[in-house]
Amino acid sequence: MFQDDRWIFFVDDKRGSKIIAANDRTSYEDFVGMVIEDYKVDFRIYDVQLSYMFSKKILLTLPKSTPPVRVTSCRQLHGFLEQGKDKPLHLCVELKEKGREPVMCPSKKESANIKDQDDDEDGDEDDDEDGDRFDYCDDSDGASSGDEDFRSYGTHPKEEENEEKSPAAKLGTTSTNTQPKRVSQHVKLEISSLNLVVGQQYESKHELETRLKILSVLHQFDFKVDRSATDLFTVNCWVEGCSWRVRATPVGKSEKFTVRVYIDKHTCSVTERSARARQATPDILALLYVNSVGGVDSKVLPKHVAEALNMRFGIKMDYWKAHRTLLRARVLVRGSPESGYSELPTYLHQIRQANPGTFTRLEVDEFQRFKYLFLAFGASINGFPFLRKVVVVDGTFLKGKYKGTLLIASAQDGNFQIFPIAFAVVDTENDDSWEWFFQQLSNVIQDDEGLALISDRHQSIGNAIKKVYPKASRGVCTYHLYKNILQRFRGRDAFRLVKKAANAFKISDFDATFDEIGVLNPALHRYLVKADVRKWARVHFPGDRYNLTTTNIAESINKALSDARSLPIVRVLDAVRSMMTRWFADRRMDAGSMKTTLTRGVEKLLEKRVQQAKLYKVQAIDVHHAQVTCGMSLNVVNLKEKKCSCRRFDVEKLPCVHAIAAAEARRISPISKCDPYYHKNYFYNAYSTSVMPRDAASPVSEDVASKVCSPPIVRNPPGRPKNSRMKSALEKATAKKRPRKEYTCSRCHRVGHNCKTCKAPIEV
Ligand SMILES: [Zn+2]
Ligand SMILES: [Zn+2]
Ligand SMILES: [Zn+2]
Repeated sequence: MFQDDRWIFFVDDKRGSKIIAANDRTSYEDFVGMVIEDYKVDFRIYDVQLSYMFSKKILLTLPKSTPPVRVTSCRQLHGFLEQGKDKPLHLCVELKEKGREPVMCPSKKESANIKDQDDDEDGDEDDDEDGDRFDYCDDSDGASSGDEDFRSYGTHPKEEENEEKSPAAKLGTTSTNTQPKRVSQHVKLEISSLNLVVGQQYESKHELETRLKILSVLHQFDFKVDRSATDLFTVNCWVEGCSWRVRATPVGKSEKFTVRVYIDKHTCSVTERSARARQATPDILALLYVNSVGGVDSKVLPKHVAEALNMRFGIKMDYWKAHRTLLRARVLVRGSPESGYSELPTYLHQIRQANPGTFTRLEVDEFQRFKYLFLAFGASINGFPFLRKVVVVDGTFLKGKYKGTLLIASAQDGNFQIFPIAFAVVDTENDDSWEWFFQQLSNVIQDDEGLALISDRHQSIGNAIKKVYPKASRGVCTYHLYKNILQRFRGRDAFRLVKKAANAFKISDFDATFDEIGVLNPALHRYLVKADVRKWARVHFPGDRYNLTTTNIAESINKALSDARSLPIVRVLDAVRSMMTRWFADRRMDAGSMKTTLTRGVEKLLEKRVQQAKLYKVQAIDVHHAQVTCGMSLNVVNLKEKKCSCRRFDVEKLPCVHAIAAAEARRISPISKCDPYYHKNYFYNAYSTSVMPRDAASPVSEDVASKVCSPPIVRNPPGRPKNSRMKSALEKATAKKRPRKEYTCSRCHRVGHNCKTCKAPIEV
């Protein structure tokens, strides 16, 4: 767009910028292809047009109105890359509807990654597909799993864009029947009918006073309480001699108060009465805010609260008051961290009532303080038999006042999506908590030789599994293993080999690669042996692990819940519940709409293999065996036992490219060679039970209601407190000059840190 004598790019914020790798060998066509892919452009509708502005240095020598340079060929693209070598340049991507005049707006900004990318050496690829290739792109710490768990395959096309945002956005909202009782007990504010009327009845004197406070804040005056007794309540305008006053008395012998006299006209000056505003406390402002404006999720900031109250009621406040108002408003909506614990027995009871077959455990100590909690929905328990028996366990920190750790057990469905099985809240990850967790889990999932448990390398998990699940096989998450290796050992070559070894399907491949590591980096080799090859290497894993090598799928739950992790505990559970309600409903519907026998994820995965299978030659050996060749590679497939010498068929329980070639040569449908776990009807059955919200109105028996659960004592987290560094003379000198504001922590009320960095124990 041409504006103020200059050309300006307008950036489409929704699309944002992307980093696309290109080098001297990238052709213009390939580059446009990558742009189309990364921005998900519908190329049937739009043409892509690339252009860029000269760098400032060059622009100085040119007239200001120099238009952007179009990039329409390989030569021009390389010209751009050449320029970008000295200075980072933005390449503008424009979308032009086909057959229309080019539109400059909306346009998108994109910084081209000018660094030459190391191409992976050819020749070390797996012989049947490139799924295992180690890819340096898009991999900041080099530890990505390369989507070994196929998660992206199962994604519903419509879901793709929303998947990231929707869980967080939806978690913030409150459905009416899960609101803590606290709110309903408050005066329901109808802002339009806020006025006081003679004859009005209030549940208590306190409630009447609250109403008066709100009124005085709205009308910008202040009152003083003249008399406050059990049988009389009178208030006057704070300005001496003003006629504004209220008189209320109880109704009979009840707690209720009725307004008997109300003089609503002030005889004082507006300047006088508005000079004092003692009632505009965060408590009252929060009430006003919650009832008239609403939003308290983590994206709402103090300035939003201040702005909203200013726009709506003309109330002005500084940042700190807005901050405290927001905190109070959050407590009003979500309940306090303490009530989060006291509500637990009732909440769990109501969840069990609404969801038959649900398994919950709440453990308190001898002083009725919260210890552990476990929750597995009936829907998960009913669905698990239709899933592959690989359970991933992982832990994540909670960020509320009482901290704690959320433990999650999950599996992957036949469409390669995450399936939550059980949740637990414990103090911290240690031998006791993990053993307790697995004890509870064993009520839901029995120990079995066919069961595989995948986790990070935490010692406590290993100990607990040995005790509680002696028959199951344990695997460690390769993602965590890679991270550890990257921290301890140098060298990308060795690291690439570790990935190759971990993902190898054939023992011979593994041995060759592992030996290579031994030569290249003996220390790393020793480390890997100590880590136990049976746990991290696919070929040596004793059980059925399928495609699952990482706990990544559990981490995607963490991500979906990340906004909820600072809520009171009962609200964390309800965020989990609401996420599951949505997932189960969406996927059941998705499964119902699938037309194929296999799930969409498997279809997508096999699509590539079916194409490649056409390149293979098949020679029958006997009734079941076939020899499948392509170039130098030779594999033997056993269609009856569903095995192939490449071992992929055996491990994934999905036909490898060789098995597909062999099956097609024999006119057998490869579908019949897929494990039923990958069938659409298994996928559907896994989600056949709904996850219901609790019915907060349903009556609770006396023994449940009388159960006490108070907040835990939070001990100092393990680990040494940070050293306070000796201050240099210079630092001391400058420190004196600028005294910094001391912060008071809202969690422990001590000075010098804030609630996010707080590590203090909390006593109750
Ligand atoms: Zn007055
Ligand atoms: Zn094979
Ligand atoms: Zn603190």
